[in-house]
Amino acid sequence: MFKAILIDKKDDKQHTQLTEVNESALPKGDVTVRVAYSTLNYKDALAITGKSPVVRSFPMVPGIDFAGTVTESSHPSYKEGDQVVLNGWGVGEKHWGGLAEYARVSGDWLVPLQQPFTPRQAMGIGTAGYTAMLCVMALERNGVTPDKGPVLVTGAAGGVGSVAVAILSKLGYTVTAVTGRQQEADYLRSLGASDILDRAELSEPGKPLQKERWAGAVDVAGGQMLANVCASIQYGGAIAACGLAAGMSLPASVAPFILRGITLAGVDSVMRPLADRLQAWQRLGTDLDIAKLDHVTHELALHDVIRTAPSFLEGQVRGRIIVPVA
Ligand code: NDP
Repeated sequence: MFKAILIDKKDDKQHTQLTEVNESALPKGDVTVRVAYSTLNYKDALAITGKSPVVRSFPMVPGIDFAGTVTESSHPSYKEGDQVVLNGWGVGEKHWGGLAEYARVSGDWLVPLQQPFTPRQAMGIGTAGYTAMLCVMALERNGVTPDKGPVLVTGAAGGVGSVAVAILSKLGYTVTAVTGRQQEADYLRSLGASDILDRAELSEPGKPLQKERWAGAVDVAGGQMLANVCASIQYGGAIAACGLAAGMSLPASVAPFILRGITLAGVDSVMRPLADRLQAWQRLGTDLDIAKLDHVTHELALHDVIRTAPSFLEGQVRGRIIVPVA
């Protein structure tokens, strides 16, 4: 038996509890992992609260990412004792995830734990931080370099935003951090933000073409905020869009695309091919200041996860929440 958070549905009502599960209930997979750390991501909070139909089959163990040690493997790339990391692939949505003492997955979904990270640090980064790195790589691919001008990060005090600010500032970019929480200004400056912008300034409908202010942006918000960001990007600039914290819609015009040649680069972390994952994790090893990572990371006990999930969706959580499991 092992401890797991289990989401079940009966009579169309979702129930979530921390419980004991028999190992024989683990799903199919060629690698079994003793989970050391998992995390609480935005998507996990949606799954646990049932606020959005993230979970596709029941019962489900949530947790879209984990780091741990292989206990059994018939996969050619992994053997007992290897330290591994998992992000995405529908784990915690349609395949049992990381908020449990054990996980069994396809070895094709795993990434070997990269230097210089411990499992704890890897989950301090987690899916949010790995997505932030993918966003920075998307900006680079689209020609956004530090000399082109300042860059913007929305939802800056959240998980993706905090890590994006830290990476961009280490790479030499001048970073403007957008936040709805002015009380987090000092935190954002400590991560490397030069300027803090109130979320309200980008939340109202604006002109299709606004003053050219930023060479690039990492956007976790979507909605009206992303529309305003598009309208404010400099000629030839780019935006990496990965989230929907402000909404699913995009009430924008084509004007910045056809008159300023800007690029909107979508970023998905879930189904990303292995080569990109490895590159992102290796880049995190060089481009993220580990001291800043410690500043971003907070621990939450497994037995407190269910109770904390709603506050996550209210945008009250700063940085990254890791869950020690072992
Ligand atoms: P967090 O909840 O940690 O951060 C989101 C931040 O967005 C909040 O902290 C807040 O920052 C800001 N925010 C909240 N509400 C609004 C609003 N109405 N308008 C503008 N900003 C708002 O979540 P994560 O960082 O983990 O994830 C961010 C987004 O990215 C989510 O939508 C998530 O689903 C998505 N995501 C996508 C991935 C992908 O593969 N594409 C992978 C990982 C995440 P502040 O208080 O500073 O304003």
